[in-house]
Order: sequence, then C-alpha cells, then structure tokens
Amino acid sequence: MNQNNFAIPGKHIGATEEAIPGKGTREENHEIYATLSGRIIREHGEISILPKKEIISIQPGQIVYGIVMNVIEQLALIEIEPLVKGRERFVPPSDYGVLRVMNIREGFVSSAKNEMKRGDLIKARVEELKLGISLSTKAFDLGIVKAYCDICRNEMILDNAILKCDKCKRTCKRKVSKSYGHETTLNEIEI
Ligand SMILES: [Zn+2]
Repeated sequence: MNQNNFAIPGKHIGATEEAIPGKGTREENHEIYATLSGRIIREHGEISILPKKEIISIQPGQIVYGIVMNVIEQLALIEIEPLVKGRERFVPPSDYGVLRVMNIREGFVSSAKNEMKRGDLIKARVEELKLGISLSTKAFDLGIVKAYCDICRNEMILDNAILKCDKCKRTCKRKVSKSYGHETTLNEIEI
C-alpha cells in the first residue's frame, strides 16, 4: 500500500477548496481530515476514505485490470484498479503490479515499449507475489483491452490484430487481448 494514499484518523488529507469531504472524513476550518483508517479515494471532486477492512488480498491466478503508468524496455508498471463486487469496492494490498518484458507475450519481446503505452488499460493474470505483484499478459484473452493513440489520445479500434486511430490514422501493434473493446465490467470478483 502506497503510504501517500493511506490515511489514519486525524490525518490531514485535503482542503474544501479542492474537494468535497465525503465518507470517512470531516471538515474543520475548510480543511479535510480522515475519521477512518483506509485508502484515500479522490474521484468526481470528492475525497473519501475506503475503510481498511475493504482491502483484500490478491492471489496468484487471479485476473486483474490495471492502467499502464510507465513503460521502460524491461517492464511496464501497472496501477491495479479497485476490485468490484456488486456495488462494493475493494482495493488490493499494493497499488502497483509489475509486468516484466518476458511475461508480456509468448516469444521474444525486445522492449516492453513496443507492446504497450502509458494510459492503456490492460487485463492481466497475477503470477507471483514474491517481489511485489508480478503480472502476466501471455494468454490470448490477456493484454490491452483499451488503448489510446500516442499522438492524439483518441481511443483506438482493433482491426485484424492492428490498432488504428480513426482521427490521425496512425496504426500500431501492441499486445492486445482477444476481448479488446468488449470488456464492460472491470475487476468483478467472487469473494
Ligand atoms: Zn491518433
């Protein structure tokens, strides 16, 4: 768990100028403080606390969705999305997973940068938990499920295994999932 995203009761987490105080917070003199232990969630202009009991463990074999935050030759750093069951949300024990270049697809990949870009949404399998959360996208149904053009940020469409941007007509190959463009519910889990 990233400590910057984690609050304990009384911790100063923001100001009313920048966010509306939500669940698990209180306001005093325009400053916002946590009233619960848990993860700080900032969305839709609101700041709230997701209580600690809603943090669940991740197991090898589990399928997760995440956003590519950074890519270097040897790996992609993935921010794992909250896990959802019905209307409840849960967060993994760590915000980040690592997708090493040899785990991206079958066969040799010279650089992870050829296979995914920052901002892409991927579906991955949890491989092991020895050194953080190690992910794999080797299987056909794993890989990118939503990609954005690296020039104009338009959402790309998949056409015969090639990603295309309708706006600027750029095309590129990345490690896409066979369910590209058809993922509606993310991180639905059975617990
Ligand atoms: Zn484009």
